[in-house]
Amino acid sequence: MAKYTGPSCRLCRREGMKLFLKGERCISPACAFERKGFPPGQHGRSVQQKLSVYGLQLREKQKLKRIYGLLETQFRRYFEMAERMPGNTGENLLQLLERRLDNVVYRLGFAPSRKAARQLVSHGHFLVNERKVDIPSYLVSPGDVIRVRDKSRDLAIVHASLRRARGRELPWLQLDKSRLSGSVVEIPRREDIPTRVQERLVVEFFSR
Ligand code: SF4
Repeated sequence: MAKYTGPSCRLCRREGMKLFLKGERCISPACAFERKGFPPGQHGRSVQQKLSVYGLQLREKQKLKRIYGLLETQFRRYFEMAERMPGNTGENLLQLLERRLDNVVYRLGFAPSRKAARQLVSHGHFLVNERKVDIPSYLVSPGDVIRVRDKSRDLAIVHASLRRARGRELPWLQLDKSRLSGSVVEIPRREDIPTRVQERLVVEFFSR
């Protein structure tokens, strides 16, 4: 599967906010955004950008895409799915992105970042309803139980991440730490999704 292989911290600097793409490093003083919170490039420090309406919409779309680690074509596909669903397209889009298995593994605290979660999932370390699922884009549904496979229970990255993720729980997911499993209680509502984007601008971007 195609993925972005460039420097992650550059993306945060480009979007002007911490996107939390590198796990532990993002909450340490080594975070590049904390040290260089200006846009990347030769003129990043000097140029004061005044964005047009299109620019604002574009930045918001890029931000959302980058937070979930998607490329343009995949992201556009999610938007098309969201458009076909009843209800608010922006909220539908966020719900679809949140329901990705790699995101759920990250949200439950089994991985320090979505990137690490994606790798763990594609290496087959997780079961969904007791069946191995190694597709990071797999969409979970209410009632699904996500569990670390028995052979992967000793993975250091999972335990270290769980320790650090304390207090990161979300109301639509329920974690059972002793069983290294989590269940999906319901489809998340907008207020349950702590992603700091204006999805309305993303919808406007694609509706142009
Ligand atoms: Fe972004 Fe800082 Fe994490 Fe780098 S370390 S990905 S700049 S939040």
